[in-house]
Amino acid sequence: MNSNKYKVLIIEDEGNIRHFVKTILATNGYQVVEAKTAAEGKMAFMSHSPDAVILDLGLPDGDGMDFLRLIRLDFSTPIIVLSARTDEKDKVAALDAGANDYITKPFGTAELQARVRAALRIHQQNMNRSLGGNKNFQVGDLIIDYDTRHVLIKGEDIKLTQTEYNIVALLAAHAGKVMTYSEIIKEIWKWSDAGSVKKLQVNMANIRKKMGIRPGDNQYIINELGVGYRMNVDME
Ligand code: CA
Repeated sequence: MNSNKYKVLIIEDEGNIRHFVKTILATNGYQVVEAKTAAEGKMAFMSHSPDAVILDLGLPDGDGMDFLRLIRLDFSTPIIVLSARTDEKDKVAALDAGANDYITKPFGTAELQARVRAALRIHQQNMNRSLGGNKNFQVGDLIIDYDTRHVLIKGEDIKLTQTEYNIVALLAAHAGKVMTYSEIIKEIWKWSDAGSVKKLQVNMANIRKKMGIRPGDNQYIINELGVGYRMNVDME
């Protein structure tokens, strides 16, 4: 058992899910604060300043999206959204509104832990960045040298085009967060049309090919099917 002191706020009205999340996290050494409604969630957020939030979108006294937008006005605390498998649109809307990640119900112990670890990694990186930390980005064997705009894997330059580099650097700047297609397209091309997603997917296919990722390998960039992409931070 770990004895980390990270505090996670879970906002979920369904008792069995709340209990499941609490049990897993508490067993792994997290402090857990529970809230059953959006109103309780806001109060708990303000009084406990959690390191991460797990947020159900369907709450009895309002939409989890309202909580998300409110918190994002002032805080960068990682927020993981819980959604049902059928709510694909809600998931994307939540990511676009600043959620860091999502978990689709039903979910298992391993997935929950991995997503919380990734969220907390973001939190640490934000802290490091605000303390004027690392100049280069590094995860596993991948290094981004921001000065020279080069991406290295195991010390070897993988020779990306400007657009490909911009995409990788953007994902790295939001490492651990799922970036939706529309977020990426807006940042990279500043405009979008009917072919934009396809254009992004073609660029991403080239990036993966240059990274030499084979199926089953550790993935630097995770394809979140139908939603977007995420720079993996949960990799050793
Ligand atoms: Ca609910």
